[in-house]
Amino acid sequence: MASSKRDFYEVLGVAKGASEEELKKAYRKLAVKFHPDKNPGDKAAEEKFKELGEAYAVLSDPQKRAAYDQLGHAAFDPRSRAGGGFRPGAGVDPSDIFRQAFGGSDFFESFFGGGGESREPGGPQRGEDLRYDLRITLEEAVHGCEREIKFSKPSRCESCSGNGAEKGSKVIRCPQCNGRGRVVMSRGIFSIQQVCPRCEGVGQVTEKPCRACGGQGRVDQSTSVRIRIPGGVDSGSRLRSSGNGSAGVRGGAYGDLYVVLSVEPHDIFKREDDDLLCDVPISFVQAALGGEVDVPTLTGKARISIPTGTQTGTLFRLKGRGVKNLQDGTIGDLHVRVSVEVPTRLDAAQRGKLEEFARLCDEDVNPQAKSFLERAKEFFS
Ligand SMILES: [Zn+2]
Ligand SMILES: [Zn+2]
Repeated sequence: MASSKRDFYEVLGVAKGASEEELKKAYRKLAVKFHPDKNPGDKAAEEKFKELGEAYAVLSDPQKRAAYDQLGHAAFDPRSRAGGGFRPGAGVDPSDIFRQAFGGSDFFESFFGGGGESREPGGPQRGEDLRYDLRITLEEAVHGCEREIKFSKPSRCESCSGNGAEKGSKVIRCPQCNGRGRVVMSRGIFSIQQVCPRCEGVGQVTEKPCRACGGQGRVDQSTSVRIRIPGGVDSGSRLRSSGNGSAGVRGGAYGDLYVVLSVEPHDIFKREDDDLLCDVPISFVQAALGGEVDVPTLTGKARISIPTGTQTGTLFRLKGRGVKNLQDGTIGDLHVRVSVEVPTRLDAAQRGKLEEFARLCDEDVNPQAKSFLERAKEFFS
């Protein structure tokens, strides 16, 4: 039997003996790439996404996979008796497969901003996920902190406890669909069944909608949420506050709140992953003679010793004075970069001393300048 269908292993780009984990990984990667949400209007991507879903639906099910390994696509051919009734494509919604493979994890939500919609019209609907952008200081990001954030969101209507009915109002059979939840519309010679627009498929409506929420079951309310920010976060870190998103509809669960952090630039420290960098100016006398210099750290002052003849740009590492990594708990370093400051306002006495110093110097005092001059001389001759 000729088949135009591609091999399912080939579709997912895995070997025949691939483990469940490998299959899942391959599927996730490709499904995210070809997901219709990421490729709006792209028919080829849509086909690819469907094909991936079909292949994964079969290979992720041990029974179906065994049948497929033995018989190939014929295992699912309704005309073939060998198939034993497996139908990979029938009733398979690629979006469902996708959802199962991601299990509603954070990963899935971070990609598509929450898959809160309900499949069944008129059924409970989960509230929307919300995003709150929060600016914090570097100190807060490094040490962690607690912040209270205030915002307004759709919350469950107190007057009707979320059911949308005015107090004392009865729930009656929907007059438009007579309780069936569906209505038949005529389009020329066709009759189409549709979800009843009045009751949205529930089959029941309230006599009088709640006045406070207009029958929606939820109203905008200001709310405040305490957010605990762990030390080690950075710009772009995302915290999930479960259940603090919008209220659901028709008894659906609350969505989640996502707090997306951005760290304000700091006056003194620059952050590079878990390391901190700090530029410290020192006087040219300190640089020449060496000595102890106090430098700032995020937990107070520290003292470093500068060797004699320290140049601008020299880095000193203070181990473990950086940022604690959120994942593995290791602590970064603080890098102190010194820059030698040339004095700019000299009085007569200081000037005199420097001139006297200059007379005492031969060219060996500044070996870098000396070597440069020699190279320049060669260049010009
Ligand atoms: Zn209400
Ligand atoms: Zn109805």
